[in-house]
Amino acid sequence: MKYLFLCVMGFYGCFACSNLSAEKATKSSEVKHKKTKTKGTLYLQPFDGLPLSTTRNVQEQLSHLYSAPIILRPSIPLPQNAVNLEREGRFHADTLIRFLSRQVGSSDLIIGLTNQDITTAKIGNSSWGIMGLGFCPGNACIASTFRLKGTNRLEKLYKVAIHELGHTQGLQHCPVNSCLMRDAEGKDHLNEEKGFCPSCKNYLTKAGWNLK
Ligand SMILES: [Zn+2]
Ligand SMILES: [Zn+2]
Repeated sequence: MKYLFLCVMGFYGCFACSNLSAEKATKSSEVKHKKTKTKGTLYLQPFDGLPLSTTRNVQEQLSHLYSAPIILRPSIPLPQNAVNLEREGRFHADTLIRFLSRQVGSSDLIIGLTNQDITTAKIGNSSWGIMGLGFCPGNACIASTFRLKGTNRLEKLYKVAIHELGHTQGLQHCPVNSCLMRDAEGKDHLNEEKGFCPSCKNYLTKAGWNLK
């Protein structure tokens, strides 16, 4: 079973984390990379409305740490079945990552990028606005610019993207304040996040990422 991580409203506030998956994921990752260092292709799937320059910026930054090819796909409309009928103008992130997951093979990764408002169900709120959502582990995630504020929105989008990709690798939230896998717990900590902490870095390095 896949587990969803979500990053809430400009805050990393994931829920539905499975405590049983972290150790297992680490071990399976280590075993996998003893067999092969080959990683799957990472696809970037922009949805209509996001400037091409924004997607290319994410692609360029990810290229420094993801060792396999990163392919930028042509922009497409958000699927109609992801429309949130309860809140006009919002889209169900859960539906979107399931849609994305079907676009690539299980050994590849895909991240959707959008400027639209995305939501998920959270306790007591069926339309909880979020920044991003990803399977943990899994092959798909999504990041949205909609709730990112400030002059460094591009940098923030990259941080959300890399956080969600970390979840797809099986990484759960991290207690280190400066770590990209930090759970914001209802606050915007993105400007405090400087990189992966040694523990998360070690995990991703074993998964084949080029982390200096
Ligand atoms: Zn998260
Ligand atoms: Zn960490």
